[in-house]
Amino acid sequence: MTERYDVIIIGTGAGGGTLAHTLAASGKRILLLERGDFLPREMDNWDPKPVFVTGKYITKDTWYDEAGKPFQPQVHYFVGGATKLYGAALYRLRPADFGEIKHVDGVSPAWPLSYDEFEPWYTRAEWLYQVHGAHGEDPTEGPWSKQYPWPAVSHEPRIQQLADDLSAGGYHPFHAPCGIMLDEARRPASTCIRCTWCDGYPCLVHAKSDAEVIAVRPILDQPNVTLLTGAEVIRLDTDAAGGSVTGVAVQRDGGQETYQADIVALCAGATNSAKILLRSASDAHRRGLANGSGQLGRNYMFHNSKAMVALGKERNDTVYQKTLSVNDFYLPGNGREWPLGNIQMLGKSNAEAMRGEEPHLTKLAPQWSLDEVAAHAVDLWLTTEDLPRPDNRVQVDRDGQVRLAYTPGNAAEAADLYKEVRKMLNHAGLAAHHMLDKNYYMKMNVPIAGCAHQAGTARFGTDPATSVLDVDCKAHELDNLYVVDTSFFPSIGAVNPALTAIANAIRVGEHLIQRLG
Ligand SMILES: Cc1cc2nc3c(=O)[nH]c(=O)nc-3n(C[C@H](O)[C@H](O)[C@H](O)COP(=O)(O)OP(=O)(O)OC[C@H]3O[C@@H](n4cnc5c(N)ncnc54)[C@H](O)[C@@H]3O)c2cc1C
Repeated sequence: MTERYDVIIIGTGAGGGTLAHTLAASGKRILLLERGDFLPREMDNWDPKPVFVTGKYITKDTWYDEAGKPFQPQVHYFVGGATKLYGAALYRLRPADFGEIKHVDGVSPAWPLSYDEFEPWYTRAEWLYQVHGAHGEDPTEGPWSKQYPWPAVSHEPRIQQLADDLSAGGYHPFHAPCGIMLDEARRPASTCIRCTWCDGYPCLVHAKSDAEVIAVRPILDQPNVTLLTGAEVIRLDTDAAGGSVTGVAVQRDGGQETYQADIVALCAGATNSAKILLRSASDAHRRGLANGSGQLGRNYMFHNSKAMVALGKERNDTVYQKTLSVNDFYLPGNGREWPLGNIQMLGKSNAEAMRGEEPHLTKLAPQWSLDEVAAHAVDLWLTTEDLPRPDNRVQVDRDGQVRLAYTPGNAAEAADLYKEVRKMLNHAGLAAHHMLDKNYYMKMNVPIAGCAHQAGTARFGTDPATSVLDVDCKAHELDNLYVVDTSFFPSIGAVNPALTAIANAIRVGEHLIQRLG
């Protein structure tokens, strides 16, 4: 079957879903090709066992590490992509992240755009994704042209106490930007019920600002928009000269179909977009489509992150915990030569999730002890910037399977951040636990399979010799191929990537509207 559209968008996550939303009003014929289906709304959405222990919503794909060892990547194939499971912490990169930053392990390169050039798209993204927050609280943030559309989500008592203790200790906690549909002034009428099942869980009541709910569902009744689910793109074909994509090959319902469009936007996520382009090698593009620079698949980043549980004497009965963040160590200074990163809260821990995430550590622990730990736990997420290293890369083997080579970077910065957080928490009354009678911090490093923040495999830039995409995210070597997911990041900063992917998709969408007339 061959059908022709104005734009084909491959993938419906933060990048693809938002791009489709931006283009929909133009009236152009848009085809969305999504490998997954709609995520079912079912009680399992809010059950830690299927979500964390049996991994019900994680793909059954097998990827291989550099040594050929198989692993199950924590990626999610649904309408809405990874945002169906994300924590909806929607941060802007800081202005410094758009420039060059020296790190202990090397240099984080500058973007071809400045923060000021990107700022309007951040504002559009925050308004589209209904972000709650308070611009002006965090000393590291850049200028903003519009306040958030919603006030910051209020802290619950334990977190308010933490914020007060940190402020008294000279730190600068701020309200974290959250993409949830909570109207605290009219709580009963609000879609969000302020539950604990947000970070890492699908939202049963569709009150999380994910790409399905915010971007894809609202455009599906438009006659110019077609969504095909269960449609896995396996290859892009070009004309003989290799200058234009002429066909998108799709596996669906056990057969193969081909679709055509004037513009093809690849938004399958940083690893899968690289995989599709590498698998599309041809006589005109021997090393993979759009890979004249040899950079495609390289510079894979996913943050040097740690989940951390601090146990206090007092109970922590917080339900929605993700309201606080600290950037006091985000930039170098105060005697520190390197930036260390961002500190934010995680969703509230529970015993089942601990078992799922740390099976070896918790195997022998009786249920009551884990319940007790969870009742006193304050859960944090520490993020240090990862560097774009050429050898951290996605490749495909002879069978077309993903091989992911990855060595984490900036370990010394991550270790220093952890030390600073321990000091900081001691200031905040998290110094003694009544069971353990001493400081007890449990920390968990994120392994290669935890590729939630994957980015960088097709970076944008002005020089075709060192980048895959131009500043509009069009492949340097093809006239109608765009990549509009987190692949385009030349560096990743130390805050969560989704808002930047969303803002960029709006930016590229507006460019395409101009281009298509
Ligand atoms: C558990 C979890 C928590 C997270 N929390 C946060 C957070 O709080 N804040 C934040 O900023 N970020 C968070 N992230 C990261 C964030 O979700 C991603 O950065 C973002 O969704 C990436 O957008 P994307 O468009 O690049 O990819 P995705 O959103 O993953 O979208 C890719 C889409 O492409 C589809 N696809 C893949 N291959 C094919 C193919 N061959 N054919 C057709 N379709 C295909 C996928 O099914 C998917 O729909 C989290 C991620 C996870 C997994």
